[in-house]
Amino acid sequence: MNRLTTAWRRLRLGTQLALVLGVLALVVFGLVGTITVGLLHQYLEDRLGEQLSTVLSQYKSTGELTSISPGKFGHPSSNDHDPPIGVQFQFGANSEYRVVNARPQGSPYPPELVAMARRALTGPHPDDKIMVDGTLYRFVAAPFMNTAPGKVAVVGLSEADTDATIRRMVMVNLVTFGFALIVLVVAGQQVLRRGLRPLGDMASTAHTIASTDLTTKSVDLSVRAKGAGGGVEVEELRSAFNVMVDHIDQSLVARSAAEQRLRQFVADASHELRTPLTSIRGYADLFAYAAANEPAERERHLARMREEAGRMSLLLDDLLLLARLDAAETPLRPEPVDLVEIAVAAADGFQAGRPDHPFTLEVEPASLPLVGDPMRLRQVLDNLLTNAAVHTDPGTPVWLRVRSEAGWAVVDVADGGPGISPENQAKVFDRFYRVDDSRTRHSGGTGLGLSVVHSLVTAHGGAVALQSRPGTTVFTVRLPLSAGQV
Ligand code: ADP
Repeated sequence: MNRLTTAWRRLRLGTQLALVLGVLALVVFGLVGTITVGLLHQYLEDRLGEQLSTVLSQYKSTGELTSISPGKFGHPSSNDHDPPIGVQFQFGANSEYRVVNARPQGSPYPPELVAMARRALTGPHPDDKIMVDGTLYRFVAAPFMNTAPGKVAVVGLSEADTDATIRRMVMVNLVTFGFALIVLVVAGQQVLRRGLRPLGDMASTAHTIASTDLTTKSVDLSVRAKGAGGGVEVEELRSAFNVMVDHIDQSLVARSAAEQRLRQFVADASHELRTPLTSIRGYADLFAYAAANEPAERERHLARMREEAGRMSLLLDDLLLLARLDAAETPLRPEPVDLVEIAVAAADGFQAGRPDHPFTLEVEPASLPLVGDPMRLRQVLDNLLTNAAVHTDPGTPVWLRVRSEAGWAVVDVADGGPGISPENQAKVFDRFYRVDDSRTRHSGGTGLGLSVVHSLVTAHGGAVALQSRPGTTVFTVRLPLSAGQV
């Protein structure tokens, strides 16, 4: 039984369904066959019964079986091989009897026939099937009643042709139903197989995906369930399957891009940290040498060491800030602030620190209240102003414009410097990206200034944009104003 179940489970779904269909058809065919054969048998027996009673009454009145002819009844029982049998018995008082008539002459009459005839004298007219010379006959018997007491007429018609007709019917049924069954199972299996083929295709696509190593860096998940047809359900399954694979593909691409960015970030950060560290080590060696040989030089080396350590700590501050902003563990301390105040303070700082850059401050409204971290907002403006000074030649004019625009506080930091080329404009907000690496590194840039600006502005619910061409570079920061301020 277990082996059968295992073998059944191993069959393809199409074959299983076709076999179930076959079994169901077998049951239906069996029922239909049994009912039709049963009805035919009943019909033939009824007709035989009617013929027997006609033959019996004629035989009783004429003593002949003349009316039995193939032409008259058209019944197969009246064939030449098994002619009708008629016997008339005369029963005496002490169970003795004699045959007074037999048609055809000398017809055999087995003991069952005698017993049956005797029963007709006392009870209802018997109707029995009795074997005569190897042929089954159906007999009916009736007494002569008042005309001749103790006399009984028995007639019998062969069942052979009824049986032959039934046998033929069973054969015809078996052949047609058998043929229909084979056609049904074979054609059904083909149709089901074709219908289920899309599922097989999907399964092999799923296998391909399953055998793809999704842990590698560059995952290629371009396989999709192809093909068409298979009905509405299969179509739905196919499109749902493909949408699912699309989702997995996209998230894998996003994950690998994020991993790539992280790797790049870690590599860049290590590289950036190694530079001041190498300098510090070098100055430490020089300091040790100077301490023994040139004491006057010591202070200079010590100052350089401090300078490099300061650069490192700035870099680490920026890295820490970015990491916190990335982790959505916001390091902001928001409070109601006036952006105009912050801008004025930044402008003052710039003018004091960068006297070689002509500077213009344009403030439209008297105040721009919003909720934000004043220290971080100042850091945003300082970073942008520092860039305007550091990445342009001395004498280049710098502007700081503050205005409000439909619910937004807008700050433009502009300069009349060389500008940033279009291909670099998209990248300047990337971490550690410098347009001219050697120049900016020399000027103390970490390549993190604009990333910090971008992250801080985004954390405040705002956006930063850049427009630049030779002679004009404008960084525009937009921050949402407090509710009620438009
Ligand atoms: P850095 O520490 O190098 O200033 P940033 O992220 O602040 O890093 O800037 C990225 C790069 O964008 C700079 O290296 C510089 O090449 C370019 N850049 C930024 N601001 C300006 C500007 N106002 N004019 C020209 N180039 C600029």
